[in-house]
Amino acid sequence: MSYLAKNYNRKKISFKRGRGSYLFSTDGKKYLDMLSGIAVNSLGHAHPKLVKTIKDQSKKLWHVSNAFQIPEGEQLAKKLCQKTFADYVIFQNSGAEATEAAIKVARRYFYSIGKPNKTRILCIKNSFHGRTLATIFASGSKKMTEGFGHVGGFDHFTFGNHNSLKKKITKNTAAIMVETILGEGGIKVIPNWCLKELRKLCDKKKILLILDEVQCGIGRSGDFFAFENSKIKPDIVPIAKGIGSGFPIGAVLMNKKVAASMTPGTHGSTFGGNPLAMAVGNAVMDIVSSKKFLKNVKKSSKYFFSNLNNLKEKYPNIIKEIRGRGLLIGIQLHTDQTEFIKKLMINKLLTIRAAENVVRILPPLNVKKKEIDMALKIIAKVCSELK
Ligand SMILES: *Cc1c(COP(=O)(O)O)cnc(C)c1O
Repeated sequence: MSYLAKNYNRKKISFKRGRGSYLFSTDGKKYLDMLSGIAVNSLGHAHPKLVKTIKDQSKKLWHVSNAFQIPEGEQLAKKLCQKTFADYVIFQNSGAEATEAAIKVARRYFYSIGKPNKTRILCIKNSFHGRTLATIFASGSKKMTEGFGHVGGFDHFTFGNHNSLKKKITKNTAAIMVETILGEGGIKVIPNWCLKELRKLCDKKKILLILDEVQCGIGRSGDFFAFENSKIKPDIVPIAKGIGSGFPIGAVLMNKKVAASMTPGTHGSTFGGNPLAMAVGNAVMDIVSSKKFLKNVKKSSKYFFSNLNNLKEKYPNIIKEIRGRGLLIGIQLHTDQTEFIKKLMINKLLTIRAAENVVRILPPLNVKKKEIDMALKIIAKVCSELK
């Protein structure tokens, strides 16, 4: 009997140890982990540098209030700003908190320039921005919002429907918020030309562009941020998942235009930006943001994609499409993916589902070539069994 509420349909497997791209189960089996806690363990499990960082920092200082200066947080914010479009950062502890903060910043900006009615956020129907009350209504998914009353302030358009997008912008729209690459929604990449048009549209309508990079950011796409590929600059970017490589960290990055409205008292978080989390964030950032590291993510990605596309050619009745960018990979099947994922797991490869019959492959960003080969071999085996 479990005393945990039943809000998850958990697989009957647990792990006692992790090392790099591998997880070791309590029943003594070794699994190749290609879901990485859903794009979280960006440097794999128990990375020696991160283990040392946590050990060292835990002996010094874990938590102090944001009433004081926190040098570790100052450092990480500086690194994030120097590496990206951002001028300022506010730290949180999770992705949903970061997207909520992004919404607050957008609304507060318009309030501060004397346009308090501009509060509405325009989102993609059935996207994913987290599980708080506001963010489930941002997603607009029936499944996620059913039974949870109503939180207003969000409008929706269909992915790829540019006419509906333009029509849904009203005088009360404050921002458009989209995932640069839709994760839960099925690894759907917003093409560069679309992102460019989106930026132009926001400029023309004098509204803000929020790009949710909680899943696709922090090197996952092969660039530090997925939108960098399109050369555009958003106004606000929530991040989380990969920046802590397993330690809970969230943040909202913003330009100075909007940051000016976030005056003392407008936002806060007890745990957000604590020294222990920030020490880990700094260590992850130092590794992931290097040119060499990102170049290697691109190299691994190219190898993975070309081989997966070969499998698609070989098994066209099973695999419909290989989607994604970098090491955010979706294998879209023609039919429901449950059996496929189960068979991968029996063969010791861990993956996770996404919408539209997609099997999500999210290896650690420092995955080795021989581990990719092993995954490809298992995927090929399962394809041949299901054919
Ligand atoms: C996971 C995710 C979130 C929510 O993050 P949590 O840490 O689970 O709150 C928000 N946006 C996107 C795009 C995500 O993938």
